[in-house]
Amino acid sequence: RAKAEGRNALRFFDPEMQAVVEARVALEADMRAGIAQGQFELAYQPQMALGSIVGAEVLMRWLHPEKGPISPVQFIPLAEESGLIHRLGEWVLRTACERLAAWAADPVLSELTLSVNVSAQQFHQAGFVPQVLAALASTGADARRLRLELTESLLLEDIDDTVKKMVRLKSYGVGFSLDDFGTGYSSLSYLKRLPLDELKIDQGFVRDVLTDPNDAAIARTIVALGTSLGLQVTAEGVETEAQRQFLERNHCYAWQGYLLSPPLPLKEFEALVMGRASADLMV
Ligand code: C2E
Ligand code: MG
Ligand code: MG
Ligand code: MG
Repeated sequence: RAKAEGRNALRFFDPEMQAVVEARVALEADMRAGIAQGQFELAYQPQMALGSIVGAEVLMRWLHPEKGPISPVQFIPLAEESGLIHRLGEWVLRTACERLAAWAADPVLSELTLSVNVSAQQFHQAGFVPQVLAALASTGADARRLRLELTESLLLEDIDDTVKKMVRLKSYGVGFSLDDFGTGYSSLSYLKRLPLDELKIDQGFVRDVLTDPNDAAIARTIVALGTSLGLQVTAEGVETEAQRQFLERNHCYAWQGYLLSPPLPLKEFEALVMGRASADLMV
């Protein structure tokens, strides 16, 4: 009996598990092919501050030839486990820098910043800083227009390596943002050590900010903390005017979310920015 249970616990052949593994292996192969065939694209979600579009968060999109759009929530973890995040991440950085360089001659677009999400695996690899500097140098992008979004778990992995890399990149003008703030485990003493420019309030706190007093208290606390550390505080996932007003009443003046726009294809994002700029000129 004990032997049978023992065998159960150590079962090597579990058809359900096998199916999951096979699906992952297949998706990973598709991802490899997809990279080669240019199936990945970037979407640009406008970010507002004090009533104007000041930049965009760059978000990866994968249009699978048979399965249709696949969410980054699904494929980023797989890319991280398989190491494909290195190629994808470098491509995102380079493409964002190409955008910034292309915008440099335009009086309106040249004012925008681009925020790029960076995975822990990507950030902690030895060549990360040279990779960012090469993307900037080869495109001619202004480093001050590039912002990297890091997560709390990334910082915790190796705080000394993190600070060193951040300081190095900051010396070129690159900005840093702490994404999904409040969902991880970073301590306040870490926050003090990091040369950050921005804290992003996770959308999980924004969603019920009007109905859940705890979420409201957390959102207010993050704004107060970030502001007193001299950081910009940006709310994520703002979907309603009432949420936006709550944030504004509580001194959070930067936000992104469906209330203004979902992540957009490049041309639509540029059209939105140009449209608002010319509307502003007319009033
Ligand atoms: P994130 O960096 O926190 O990005 C914000 C997510 O919230 C995006 O989901 C965005 O589309 C979504 N969002 C924006 N406004 C709203 C809103 O008003 N309501 C709701 N419900 N959602 C909103 P997305 O594009 O599916 O990306 C999910 C996550 O995948 C990102 O979370 C980020 O962690 C990761 N990711 C996306 N692109 C990249 C990338 O290029 N590199 C890396 N390493 N990670 C990426
Ligand atoms: Mg982000
Ligand atoms: Mg986020
Ligand atoms: Mg998130």
